[in-house]
Amino acid sequence: MGNKIWLSSPHMSKEGYEMQYIQEAFDTNWIAPLGKNVDGFESELANRVGAKYAVALSSGTGAIHMALKAAGVDKGDIVFCQSLTFAATANPIIYQNATPVFIDSNYETWNMDPDALEKAFKKYPMVKAVLIVHLYGLSTDMDNIMSICNKHNATVIEDAAESLGTRYRGKHTGTFGEYGVFSFNGNKIITTSGGGMLVSNNEEKTKKVRFWATQARDKARHYQHSELGYNYRMSNIVAGIGRGQLKVLDQRIAKKKYIFEFYKKHLGQLDGIHFMPINTWNEPNYWLSCLTLSGNVKPLDIIEALEKNNIESRPIWKPMHMQPFFADYDYIGADVSEKLFENGVCLPSDTKMTDDDLHRVVNVIKKLW
Ligand SMILES: *Cc1c(COP(=O)(O)O)cnc(C)c1O
Repeated sequence: MGNKIWLSSPHMSKEGYEMQYIQEAFDTNWIAPLGKNVDGFESELANRVGAKYAVALSSGTGAIHMALKAAGVDKGDIVFCQSLTFAATANPIIYQNATPVFIDSNYETWNMDPDALEKAFKKYPMVKAVLIVHLYGLSTDMDNIMSICNKHNATVIEDAAESLGTRYRGKHTGTFGEYGVFSFNGNKIITTSGGGMLVSNNEEKTKKVRFWATQARDKARHYQHSELGYNYRMSNIVAGIGRGQLKVLDQRIAKKKYIFEFYKKHLGQLDGIHFMPINTWNEPNYWLSCLTLSGNVKPLDIIEALEKNNIESRPIWKPMHMQPFFADYDYIGADVSEKLFENGVCLPSDTKMTDDDLHRVVNVIKKLW
């Protein structure tokens, strides 16, 4: 059996950029709080995606929470949320004591279906925020989604945790809505070991998020609080890793694309394999190479065969409306997200994979046909 092949594991720069930023923090004793790396990471990331402001936070989940709070989402409010996603998208809606209504995806994008969204607005005209996701680095159909949300005066929050570097018609995902969220968790395209970022063009709201995320301390010498606070800021060490990783983001995207095209070339002819949709308006970051199956071979066959060969792969996210915890909330749409879940697989997309590793994956899968 060969070496372990991971789905998507941390990949530090070969130049050691991350350690240089960490070393500098140690040398100047800016281990904490905040500091130069946090400021640098915020402005470098904002520049990279074309947002005016960025706030570095301890996780993507925390960033989604702060975005909802900034959007004014509070007890009893309804938030439309893409059903096909990781639970971290939806959980912060509950943190705010608001009510999620889950929305189906379509096959064209795997992301929020504009028709289902229109239907949802007919049923619930008063909606504070719409939480969309750019799954696996594929962008949502932004023109359609934005025009529907604008028509209904709903604040758009983009969960771009999986899509750093992805563009829709040339513009970065995370910069269309009022708020965009990125994650630097261990399996994301770049990682800080853990962390998140909220981006926005709204200066006042980003200042407010910084305030809430540092325990909501009022301007007073004594400890004075007139609002509920959170301990959500990123540390200066963690931000140093982020600054180093940002320098190799383009390399990581190029390798992720290479992996996707490798699979497409070597597996594309197999009966019943359909790769995730790459629309003409989309330049994805190819975070994970995903496909669906319509023939005799099932996702579990692939996952188990790879597992026997020390290779990690995963099913597509299980939709939120199918989760026991969210079972009581409304769901608008058909069965697209369910079908994608039942028939989908995420293939190993680790940027450290060699061509030999990729051939190993392909050969295990081909044997099932
Ligand atoms: C990873 C991820 C998150 C959560 O980010 P964390 O930094 O792990 O809190 C949110 N949404 C999606 C779609 C993700 O994949």
